Amino acid sequence: MTDSMLAFVVTNDLVAHTRGRALPLSELSETAGVGWVPADLAINAFGHLIEPNPFGALGDLRLIPDMNTGIPLPLPSGTCRMFLADQTLPDGTAWECCPRSTLKGALRRLADDHGLSIMAAFEHEFTLLNQEGEPKGQGAFTLGGLIDGEPFGADARQALTAAGIKWENWLPEYGPGQFEVTVAPEPGLRAADTAVLTREVVRTVAKMNSQRATFAPLIHPDAVGNGVHVHLSLWREGSPVTHDSSGLAGLSDLAQSASAGILEHAAAMLMWTAPSHVSALRLAPHRWSAAGSFVGLHNREALLRVSAIPPGSDAALAYNIEYRAADATANPYLVLAVLVHAMCDGLDRNLPLDSVMTGHIDDEQFTRLPVDLAGAIEAFDRDATARVWFSSDLVDTALAVRRGEWEAVAELDVPARCLAYAERY
Ligand code: GLU
Ligand code: MG
Repeated sequence: MTDSMLAFVVTNDLVAHTRGRALPLSELSETAGVGWVPADLAINAFGHLIEPNPFGALGDLRLIPDMNTGIPLPLPSGTCRMFLADQTLPDGTAWECCPRSTLKGALRRLADDHGLSIMAAFEHEFTLLNQEGEPKGQGAFTLGGLIDGEPFGADARQALTAAGIKWENWLPEYGPGQFEVTVAPEPGLRAADTAVLTREVVRTVAKMNSQRATFAPLIHPDAVGNGVHVHLSLWREGSPVTHDSSGLAGLSDLAQSASAGILEHAAAMLMWTAPSHVSALRLAPHRWSAAGSFVGLHNREALLRVSAIPPGSDAALAYNIEYRAADATANPYLVLAVLVHAMCDGLDRNLPLDSVMTGHIDDEQFTRLPVDLAGAIEAFDRDATARVWFSSDLVDTALAVRRGEWEAVAELDVPARCLAYAERY
């Protein structure tokens, strides 16, 4: 190890930006970590620290690295490792606004109250842009489309592998310059870690190729959306418990109640899973994102999709539900935390799942999701159950950050808003 090796110790914040501090790798300590500032959580997607926020100029935090998350960053010099961290108070206890610790708390609730854990996988779509900011690649699912993304693609896949990320599919997606990367399922916390790392690795490699990879939900109002789909399965004592061949759409009673919990809180959750001022535009019918609040069998317009499993696979192991209403402006830890809390609520109350939609569905057959972020925030505010899932300072800071973003984009027309976000993600 040379003295020039850097350790970049980071947190993923309320606008899903990865921020942190670097120190010599030789001095990295998992006890002391590095210093951090509470008000950093109030920085919005456009880099402005929003005031007022609950913290002001007060307070000291530590970023405590999780040594298991260290990855080599794909920089030509090979001189930097990045570590995901928890934010703690100076006495070492978790900070109540730390997104990663918030997810740990939600997972503890699921384990303590229901004896359950989750496996999850975040599926990402993104758009590759050339130096002029135009989509780089043409040809949905074609070899030409795949090749248009090279050599960036080869470098990215290699860097993901070097980071210990088990990528499964790499595909030229439907939209111009659009690609998708899927990864293997992992235990909850680890899956959210992988989501953060996947985005950073892909963006870094694009930058090293003088290109840009943007994970923004829409680079233009008419563009094909970049979704984040979260695959979830429930486990108890090491065994999968999502599938029951005699259950509705093959879902176990537990999975049905968990899904019913997600449906019950669908509108309130969007403030955490699709939180930018352009996110809701993607969640419209005929975009194959999540047109409305329903569970659908093999249906890409569903909020929760029950997908077909590969031939020859063990249904008990392969069965999962796919939450489709997330995007990369959302913090992956908070996406998973809000999903786990909603599932816990369904499980607490033994909520029944009334129906799973099958076959083709007309737009009138389901409840639409809020059409803008203001609607999602109102829904969260009205949802007394959801309001207590996160600390009040975390909620207040999220609201302040989104207010600040609205001030930055309100005067722009919708294409310019999409562009503003595309430049930041
Ligand atoms: N691009 C769609 C979205 O915005 C997803 C399409 C697909 O099912 O892969 O979520
Ligand atoms: Mg896709």
